[in-house]
Amino acid sequence: MTAALRPTAGLVPATVRTHVRIPLTFADGYSTVADVFTFFDLVDNREHLLLGLGDWRGALDRGDAPIVRPHSECLTGDVFGSQRCDCGPQLREAVERIAAEGGFLLYLRQEGRGIGLYAKLDAYALQDSGLDTYEANVALGHGEDERDYRVAAQMLLSFGADRIRLLSNNPDKAAQLEEFGIAVDEQIATGVHLSGANARYLLAKRDHTSHTIDLGMIA
Ligand SMILES: [Zn+2]
Repeated sequence: MTAALRPTAGLVPATVRTHVRIPLTFADGYSTVADVFTFFDLVDNREHLLLGLGDWRGALDRGDAPIVRPHSECLTGDVFGSQRCDCGPQLREAVERIAAEGGFLLYLRQEGRGIGLYAKLDAYALQDSGLDTYEANVALGHGEDERDYRVAAQMLLSFGADRIRLLSNNPDKAAQLEEFGIAVDEQIATGVHLSGANARYLLAKRDHTSHTIDLGMIA
């Protein structure tokens, strides 16, 4: 299948390992069913997931560019509902939006922008002394953002999805996916999930890395 694909900077599409259907119900009662896939051959050897939501097969069969959100794992936000970031509401929004149109949620095991869970919590401690989310990562000896999206491209390419509509406010996700052989036909902004506890975090994302987040009322 690789012959028909775009150049992928040497990336080999991942191979599907397991497919299971999992009914999902969120805390607010919204429910849907996900086709969850695991893979062989992911370049970082981590256990990333692809969730096919809604009529994703139809989107591929019609040759449509499916809607895709790469979501980076956030234990505190996704599982415990932490208000220090907007990951939980972003995930919840993405699942419903993707399920409505048919597409993929990529659940990427990149806690703390790739630095890991403990280091993320260390960074929170530094943020409590005044650093922003990016400065804190650097103070710990990490990059501001260590995520790379090669595994996201590998999972998409395994389904022949080399054209997508990207549900993200992050320009780096679009740039990296293009670099790894995924054409981003459209970038769709996510909603703004502002709370008292995450306002500084969202401002840093907007001002430091050009995320498209409309925070006009608190800027
Ligand atoms: Zn988070």
